[in-house]
Amino acid sequence: MATIEPEPAFTKSKAMELPRSVVIGHDALAQIGEMTAKLKLGRRALVVADPTTMKVAGETVVQRLVDQRIKVEEYIIPDSTMAAVRAAEAQIRKSDLDFALGVGGGKSIDVAKCASHQSGAHFISVPTAASHDGVVSSRASITGDKGEKLSLVAQTPVAVVMDTKIISESPFRLLAAGCGDILSNLSAVRDWILARNLRNEYYSSYAAALSEMAAKLVLENAPNIKPRLEESAWFVCKALVSAGVAMSIAGSSRPASGSEHKFSHALDRIAEKPALHGEQVGVGTIMMMYLHNGDWEGIRNALLAIGAPTTARALGVADDEVMEALVHAHEINKDRYTILGDEGLTHEAAERLAHITKVI
Ligand SMILES: [Zn+2]
Repeated sequence: MATIEPEPAFTKSKAMELPRSVVIGHDALAQIGEMTAKLKLGRRALVVADPTTMKVAGETVVQRLVDQRIKVEEYIIPDSTMAAVRAAEAQIRKSDLDFALGVGGGKSIDVAKCASHQSGAHFISVPTAASHDGVVSSRASITGDKGEKLSLVAQTPVAVVMDTKIISESPFRLLAAGCGDILSNLSAVRDWILARNLRNEYYSSYAAALSEMAAKLVLENAPNIKPRLEESAWFVCKALVSAGVAMSIAGSSRPASGSEHKFSHALDRIAEKPALHGEQVGVGTIMMMYLHNGDWEGIRNALLAIGAPTTARALGVADDEVMEALVHAHEINKDRYTILGDEGLTHEAAERLAHITKVI
């Protein structure tokens, strides 16, 4: 879809913050000590994990760092809240730590990402599941003090370590959700092109092409993505890294987040029991691709082949909640122009859309 076009006139400078080191593979955790030493990040580290991910991967990380004579402190998160971010930040400052490692599915990573950013420390991402592209990006979702969901800009990890053995042993539902988050790049890029054409918004053809390529690879290889298959985990991890790099190049989440993400964020607010982020954006992508006159059925088939939800029922949300989310999606992050426009969908249009795409 994205054609290579000249970038806008060279009148502005643009910073791209990219990871310096990415390790993906079997037993990748074993390399974390040497990799950290090579990056010369310092000799004092904070490992942020939850009680489960500490056991699954955190303890190995600590051991490998200690082997390199790095002094390690631990912070076990209760949840990804602002309070946890402040506590981790205070620990980094108090002990004058050089870098923080987030070890977990998403919450530990988000807390470590924000706390290290705010205290000026480096950040290393060590995902134990591949459920969304936040494991590679600079963004973090944190629950605010009043229980509100915040999407914060923190920092890009200086390194990413994805151990495919550990990731393939995490629940398959998480990996399937990660595929939904990658497929969402297809509608996100279409929204981006629309914003460039209608709003003259900054657009990077490199970032768009990279982001779409990751999604197309998942689309084409969907039948091969299977539970407990380490190759599947490896494949999804690579695609998540590509999506993360696309965001780094763009300097925003534009290449990987459009109308389908607005739908998911609206559903988070409306639904009594929201599903996983990647599951919701996957369903959102089916519907937004219909609006874009794109191959929504291809996306639906891919999600079905992977075993990811394609209906409200499979998401565990009510049909009404899906329609409400569609009607209100355009109100989320209004600066980001998408196919939903400034007015959004009428209730009747939302119902029609959800019916045609077999979501309800
Ligand atoms: Zn996402």
